[in-house]
Amino acid sequence: MSNDERSAVSEEPPLSTRLDFLKRFEPAGRGFWANVPEKEWQDWHWQLKHRITTLEQLERLLPTLTPEERAGTTLANHKLAMAITPYFFNLIDPADENCPIRRQVIPRLEETHAAAWEMTDPCGEDSHSPVPGLVHRYPDRVLFLVTDRCAAYCRYCTRSRLVSNATGYDFHPEFDRQIEYIAQHSEVRDVLLSGGDPLLFSDEKLEYLLGRLRAIPHVEFLRLGTRIPIFLPQRITPELCAMLRQFHPLFVSIHSNHPRELTTEVREALGRLADAGIPLGNQSVLLRYVNDAPAIMKAHVQKLLMCRVRPYYIYQCDLIAGSAHLRASVRQGLKVMEALRGHTTGYAVPTYVIDAPGGGGKVPVSPEYVLSRNNDRVVIRNYEGKIFEYPEATDGTPLFKAPVEVEESELT
Ligand SMILES: *Cc1c(COP(=O)(O)O)cnc(C)c1O
Repeated sequence: MSNDERSAVSEEPPLSTRLDFLKRFEPAGRGFWANVPEKEWQDWHWQLKHRITTLEQLERLLPTLTPEERAGTTLANHKLAMAITPYFFNLIDPADENCPIRRQVIPRLEETHAAAWEMTDPCGEDSHSPVPGLVHRYPDRVLFLVTDRCAAYCRYCTRSRLVSNATGYDFHPEFDRQIEYIAQHSEVRDVLLSGGDPLLFSDEKLEYLLGRLRAIPHVEFLRLGTRIPIFLPQRITPELCAMLRQFHPLFVSIHSNHPRELTTEVREALGRLADAGIPLGNQSVLLRYVNDAPAIMKAHVQKLLMCRVRPYYIYQCDLIAGSAHLRASVRQGLKVMEALRGHTTGYAVPTYVIDAPGGGGKVPVSPEYVLSRNNDRVVIRNYEGKIFEYPEATDGTPLFKAPVEVEESELT
């Protein structure tokens, strides 16, 4: 950020100007790695190999490291490892202790403070796991965990019990058993590959896995959950996209939280996926001082549309142990939703959900638009607070012969 931009922000210009500033696409650039040859910088293996994983590296690269961050980093290897790709590290504003990028990936001492209501498996995944690495919570779809590794580690990770293996969970998925389960359960029509990050696999390994799932006749729909387009856009090669497009219908859900994450590099990577015919969705986690301000979230969802990504979910932050400093309130989440619906493109408005603690699954939460409802009328309000009445339709005694109801079983 230049000095001009910084003073522009502190002087609180009109919101429109501020949104404009947040929505600008800029390259993450080379930062500390200006001398690395372009070929290496663009190589995703180089990026992974040169990740920032130690306190020594952090001290060198971030002179403004705080005592809380230093302590957090020392303790991280027993909880959730630290890893940040050089590309993503360049998005950190070293002058800003509360930089929204920094808060997501640099450990803090607060992570070791666990409240009584926090959990190591907040969504009760392990108790809904018929075989290791498969979570079958909903009737017709499964979550297929393929690895415990990511390109970088989010400090609020809901799966930190296993991801990065800092706590010795030793996650070793057995693909044969996972695939066998899906093959034997004909109700599973949708398989969501996640982890860890499935795009850390080589093209060959991912192709093998997707090929085996596609060969199961009742699997209609495949999707990948990944933060790699954000942490490591270099991974989204033309070869990867050409491989993925063999497996349609295949959707990809990315995870991005703040407009600054949507750089020119990311926009190009997402464009390659979209050009391969892959519908893109985004999942954000509502995070305190990161994206819990309506103006930030609005800029973010609008910028996602410019990257050809449809905002899919905003998650209330799970009750993962040591995440209190990052959790925004549901009250604030509802304010954010209120500021989106009607105020911007419907496609830009995601569903706000709480993944019910203990394993109830995703539950939508929404500002109240239905003010009252009885057999005769529904009273609603719009995004401006104006009140309207809709006369309820009668579905009791039909005036004409009722259409024949089709049993769901006849449709399949
Ligand atoms: C989120 C999730 C899914 C997918 O849910 P959708 O609402 O269909 O995107 C599936 N299984 C598990 C266990 C999940 O947590």
